[in-house]
Amino acid sequence: MVVEIKKVGVIGAGQMGSGIAHVCALAGFDVALSDLSMEKIESGLASINGNMARQVQKEQISEEVRTSALDRITPAVDLDLLADVDLVIESAVENEQVKRKIFSQLCPILKPEAMLATNTSSISITRLAASTDRPERFIGIHFMNPVPLMELVELVRGIATEDETFDAAKTFVDRLGKQIAVAEDFPAFMVNRILLPMINEAIYTLYEGVGSVESIDKAMKLGANHPMGPLQLADFIGLDTCLSIMQVLYEGLADSKYRPCPLLVKYVEAGWLGRKTQRGFYDYRGETPVPTR
Ligand code: NAD
Repeated sequence: MVVEIKKVGVIGAGQMGSGIAHVCALAGFDVALSDLSMEKIESGLASINGNMARQVQKEQISEEVRTSALDRITPAVDLDLLADVDLVIESAVENEQVKRKIFSQLCPILKPEAMLATNTSSISITRLAASTDRPERFIGIHFMNPVPLMELVELVRGIATEDETFDAAKTFVDRLGKQIAVAEDFPAFMVNRILLPMINEAIYTLYEGVGSVESIDKAMKLGANHPMGPLQLADFIGLDTCLSIMQVLYEGLADSKYRPCPLLVKYVEAGWLGRKTQRGFYDYRGETPVPTR
């Protein structure tokens, strides 16, 4: 049995989790937003507040809509506060062990009929589902970044996902006003299976000295009509997330063409993770981004 979704729990209040909480609250769902600490939740709430204020400025939503949506989001530093949610969307870091640990702590707290979803960019839905007590009510709901602006959501069924779960997830995504693309459960699904090898190749192009950061981005913007250069996009996604996805592709498909570029590994080891840490292929600490190579 699958319940009607009224309240959504979001785990991880980073760039994706806060975006998911944002669109759920605007669509009228109550939201419980969880992360490792109150500071992290507050920082997520602050970015939701700022992004909704921008929507008010652009007259996309009214001030009343913003206030009531913000009121619908409650911080949940303790997972116990997710006991009454109908759907959980896990959006913590792209690390299988972290996600498994979250599910093992969460499942005993959830209502038996609650649905469980993950926003993973690449990890097997079937394997994550198997680590829970409800693989039939588990599904991949993969949002795109930035969530309030991007129209697509990939829906990914695990081997055990029941039709009711899939249908409920579809109805939920419809209510968010987003479009669905259904992907089979293979490493990195569709969007990232195609996008990340291109980004990794752009990093190899930089690593081998074929072009500079600026010339690679300019080449792909003006030469392939991409709205953003691949290195700019990598910074936007987060270099740690890019590396994790390449590792999942490399290990999951056992093909050397997915080997993560050593330069990507180096940036991640330096803690230069892109926009979220103010430094990646560009340095964002000044007024305008400056290439770091
Ligand atoms: P992020 O680094 O901005 O946020 C991750 C958050 O998870 C952080 O706030 C961190 O404190 C929190 N966290 C870590 N361990 C936790 C735990 N045990 N319990 C609760 N919270 C925990 O990363 P992000 O870009 O928001 O990515 C989150 C997920 O979304 C990943 O699975 C990623 O693959 C996926 N995703 C990312 C993008 C993207 O473009 N960045 C797009 C689609 C999906």
